[in-house]
Amino acid sequence: MLNLQGGGLSGDVSRQRTSLDPADWQALRQQGHRMLDDMLDHLQTLSEKPVWQAAPASARALFDVPLPVEPTEIADVHALFRDHVLPYGSGNIHSGFMGWVQGGGTVAGMLADMLAAGLNANLGGRDHMPIEVERQIIRWVRQIFSFPDTAGGLFLTGASQANFVALLIARTRKLGAAIRAEGLPAEPRLVAYASSEVHGCVPRAFEMSGIGSDQLRRIPANAAGQIDIGALQAAILRDRQEGYLPFLIVGTAGTVNTGAVDDLIALRGIADAHDLHFHVDGALGALGILSDDLAHLFTGIESCDSLAFDFHKWGQVPYDAGFLLVRDSAWQRQTFASDAAYLSRAASGLAGGDWWPCDHGPDLSRGFRALKTWFTLKTYGVKALGESMAANCALARELARRVDAEPALRLLAPVALNIVCFAYAGPKGNAPAAINARIIEHLHAEGRVAPSLTFVNGQPAIRAAIVNHRTRQADIDALIQGVLKLGSRQDLHPC
Ligand SMILES: *Cc1c(COP(=O)(O)O)cnc(C)c1O
Repeated sequence: MLNLQGGGLSGDVSRQRTSLDPADWQALRQQGHRMLDDMLDHLQTLSEKPVWQAAPASARALFDVPLPVEPTEIADVHALFRDHVLPYGSGNIHSGFMGWVQGGGTVAGMLADMLAAGLNANLGGRDHMPIEVERQIIRWVRQIFSFPDTAGGLFLTGASQANFVALLIARTRKLGAAIRAEGLPAEPRLVAYASSEVHGCVPRAFEMSGIGSDQLRRIPANAAGQIDIGALQAAILRDRQEGYLPFLIVGTAGTVNTGAVDDLIALRGIADAHDLHFHVDGALGALGILSDDLAHLFTGIESCDSLAFDFHKWGQVPYDAGFLLVRDSAWQRQTFASDAAYLSRAASGLAGGDWWPCDHGPDLSRGFRALKTWFTLKTYGVKALGESMAANCALARELARRVDAEPALRLLAPVALNIVCFAYAGPKGNAPAAINARIIEHLHAEGRVAPSLTFVNGQPAIRAAIVNHRTRQADIDALIQGVLKLGSRQDLHPC
C-alpha cells in the first residue's frame, strides 16, 4: 500500500488515504494552539478552581459510548475533553492538594511531554539522540546521589516497578544468572528485611517475583518510624540459624505514612556484615537531597546498592517518571539482557549504540520519559527544585506547630519531612476517632483542600503530604480552619 502524504492529495478522492496526518495543516495548527492556550489558561487560573469536584453522571456517560467507527473533528474531541475531563481531574496539580504523595507537575514538563509525543521515540534501544538524553539523566542522577561511573539506571513507570526490578537484581546477585532459566530453588529459601512502615508495593514485588511476601520480614519501627536496628540484626541471625538465605535489606528514605528515613548508614553496615544487597526505596523522599537544608537527612544513601525514586513526586515531573539507580550496571544486564534475533545489534547505524535499555530492565518498548525530566531539571535547575522541597518541609513543620497549638487537634507522628499526620480530638479530647474520615470526605467535597486518610498505630489520621510546589501558607491555614469547623459540627459526629 502506498504511504500517501496528506497535504497534496487531500482533494483526491480516487486514491485511498491511509495516512492519519491532517489534510489541512494550517487548520490543525490553529487547533493545536487553541488546545495549548486552553491548558495554559487552566493552569494559570488553578487557584480560582476547586482542588477536586465530583464528575457528574452526564460527564461519565459521555465515556460510556460505543466504539467510534467514523471520525470526529478534533475540535469536537477537544471540546469533550475541555468540558468533561479537565474540570474533574484528580486535583494533584492544585495548591490545596495534600492527599497521598503526588507531584504537582510543571508547565515545562507538560510542554516537553508534547514534544516527546511528537517525536514518538521508542527508547528500548538503538542509536538515536533520545537515548543520549536518558543517559544524560543517568549521569545527573549518579552525580546527585554520589554514585560511581559504573552505576546504571533507567526510567520505569514508578517506584513500584523500580522496587520490583531492584528485587529481581538482588535475587540474581545472590543466586546467579542461572536462576533466570532454572527458577527459584526450593532450598535454601531467600529472605529479605524491611521495616513495618515499608510501602505496600514492596511486599507485592515479593509476591510478583515468586519469592512470596512471607519471605519479606517486616521489622518493627521505632517511635521515629525508622526500622529498629537491633530487631533487624536479631531477625537476620535467627533466619541464618534456621537455614534461610538472607539476600536483601530494603531501607526507606521517606516512609509513605510519616516521611521517616531509616538509618541508612547502619543498614549499609548490616548488609555488608551479612553479604546482603542494600536497596533503598526513596520514592517520595530521596530527591530531597537536592535541598541544602534537607540533604543531611539522607546521609548514607550514596552507599546503597540500588535506589528507587520518583521524579513524578517531589521532582514535579509530570506522570509517569519513576527511576531506578543501580550501583553496577552489570547487575542489570546479568538480570535482564537477552539475545533475541529480532534485536540483533550492529557495529554502527540505527541498530548500533552501546546502551540498550531493554538489556537493563524488563521493558522493550519505552516512552521518552527522559525528555520531560531533562526539561524540568534544565529549565528550573536543581537548586530551585530543592528549595521548593525545603519550602514544603517548612510548611509541614508550620502545620505541626499549628496542630500542637490547637487544643482540639492532636499530632499523631513526628514530622521528619513533608508529611503531617494529625487528628481532630475535640476541645475536650473526646471526639470519636471516626470523625476524622468524615472531616476528610467533607473537605474533599468543599474543594478547598484535599488531605487523605491514613492510620497511625491503628488510629485514623488526617494526613497532609505537602509535595506540590504551588502549596502555600494560605493552604495550610485553610486546612486547619476546615478541620476545626467540620470537627465542631455535631451532625458529623458518628453516633
Ligand atoms: C509512592 C511510593 C511508592 C510507589 O511509587 P509509585 O511511583 O506510585 O509506583 C513506593 N514507596 C514509597 C515510599 C512511596 O511513597
